[in-house]
Amino acid sequence: MPRQPISPSILPAAERQCRSRLHQLLNQAEGFLHGSLIVMARRCGKPTCRCATDDNARHQSLYLGQTLEGKSTMIYIPARLESTVRQWHDNFQQAEQLIEQLSQQGRARLSQAKSTKSGTTKSGTTKSAPTSRKTSTTQTPRKPS
Ligand SMILES: [Zn+2]
Repeated sequence: MPRQPISPSILPAAERQCRSRLHQLLNQAEGFLHGSLIVMARRCGKPTCRCATDDNARHQSLYLGQTLEGKSTMIYIPARLESTVRQWHDNFQQAEQLIEQLSQQGRARLSQAKSTKSGTTKSGTTKSAPTSRKTSTTQTPRKPS
């Protein structure tokens, strides 16, 4: 079911800003990668290479570590894709931070709504009598006030 977009004007400024930054990120980012970037030093295997004898000359390569379904995995990243992967990883972290900020703003709004008895949304159902005769609607008994 399509949901109506909420009117941004009812949102606090900080939340509006977060949402618009997230929108921008989603629209512009080429990709997203969750995980940790790990640089590992390895020997290439050529006996004539310096790395065979010198630990400091070992070749550094990038890996993306991820936990998938409880298992930790390591994906080797070829040198030509390193900058792409770093960018996608950065994009994910930015998105994650924005989501976290939104969650904190949501929590603030929640505690605000809890402290005001009417809540954030005013229930404008103060009609004196039900106007429709739909059989599917359940009528709540009105308590005498
Ligand atoms: Zn080598």
